[in-house]
Amino acid sequence: IQPPKPVSSFGHFGFDDKLLAAVRKAGFTTPTPIQAQGVPVAMSGRDIIGIAKTGSGKTAAFLWPLIVHIMDQKEIKEGDGPIGLILAPTRELAQQIYNEAKKIAKVFNIKVVCTYGGGSLWEQGKACEEGAEIIVATPGRLIDLVKKKSTNLRRVTYLVFDEADRMFDLGFEPQVRSIANHVRPKRQALLFSATFRKKVERLARDILTDPVRVVQGELGEANEDITQIVEVFPQGPAKWMWLTRRLVEFTSMGSVLIFVTRKANSEELAKNLKLKDVSLGLMHGDMSQMERNEVITKFKKKEFPVLVATDVAARGLDIPSIKTVINYDVSRDIDTHVHRIGRTGRAGEKGTAFTLITSKDKDFAGHLVRNLETSGQYVPPPLIELANQ
Ligand code: ADP
Ligand code: MG
Repeated sequence: IQPPKPVSSFGHFGFDDKLLAAVRKAGFTTPTPIQAQGVPVAMSGRDIIGIAKTGSGKTAAFLWPLIVHIMDQKEIKEGDGPIGLILAPTRELAQQIYNEAKKIAKVFNIKVVCTYGGGSLWEQGKACEEGAEIIVATPGRLIDLVKKKSTNLRRVTYLVFDEADRMFDLGFEPQVRSIANHVRPKRQALLFSATFRKKVERLARDILTDPVRVVQGELGEANEDITQIVEVFPQGPAKWMWLTRRLVEFTSMGSVLIFVTRKANSEELAKNLKLKDVSLGLMHGDMSQMERNEVITKFKKKEFPVLVATDVAARGLDIPSIKTVINYDVSRDIDTHVHRIGRTGRAGEKGTAFTLITSKDKDFAGHLVRNLETSGQYVPPPLIELANQ
């Protein structure tokens, strides 16, 4: 069967007046491409692999049809677990999706609960036991809560994997499979990401049934609203000097997110910048969840202009004030690069991403050259030289 055709206005989605009003209240006037194509497919009940650039509105593309899905089966009240289950790879992203979901769900008296590692197991368990139609979760904590019988997945018929390629990579795969096995086979599964390798697609195939692929743009391409600037440095203090010289200029334009690959190095960079009187926050995976939440909240409220972070902040986070991303270290792989820089240039806004690369990053240089080319960005000659070494 042919998947449904894309629609060009919210009025043609077949949403009821309440949902349309909620969408318009968010300030949106037209659907983004992934919404125009993805929403009709999701509402037709088909499984979907949705691939679209960072900041292109994928969250709403799975949330709106979920609301319709739940309202359609409100009479069938057997069971007490969630009807919609949304999985995300990081605690902050789970909380962000939860906040988005709550805004629409409250209009329909639909209950949403968020469960994630590091938060109170007791409180989250209690919230699950009180019952919710939607759970947004990180995988490990959800499994704990299912084991504790605080919730069950028997009623789940709409299963979302946000940042799906990350959810199916090595670290998460066993947990994700275990969760998928707890969900009835007759269900709708929806996978979304900005990047999606063939290898991941093979893993995902067990979980999907005859999926519709909705792909916006070229696979793995970076968002063209992000101007990418690559600076090639010799090893040594040169990139530190570049950063301290330019940072004031960047902070005058908006919030700045600086990525560092290793936790220890992120701590060191944060410490050194503080010695230079830079007002900043630090986020990495070894901090307590309370600290992580506090840092993100303050950064969003612009209490400090700079956030130094590891790749825990690489995926999904939507912080519109971020105008500049700096890859102080290059990413582990090119997909991570695409996600990191995608923290700016969201929802049609412009952003700038700087990537600081040194002579030891030859392998990455090659991948970066190809990515800049497919994303329509300037490729500086020193980078080509490094890649060809
Ligand atoms: P993605 O998951 O594709 O990276 P998000 O779902 O986080 O993107 O959305 C990015 C931003 O775009 C959010 O701030 C969201 O509110 C906004 N947005 C979503 N849909 C629309 C739309 N149709 N029109 C304008 N802005 C939108
Ligand atoms: Mg997203």
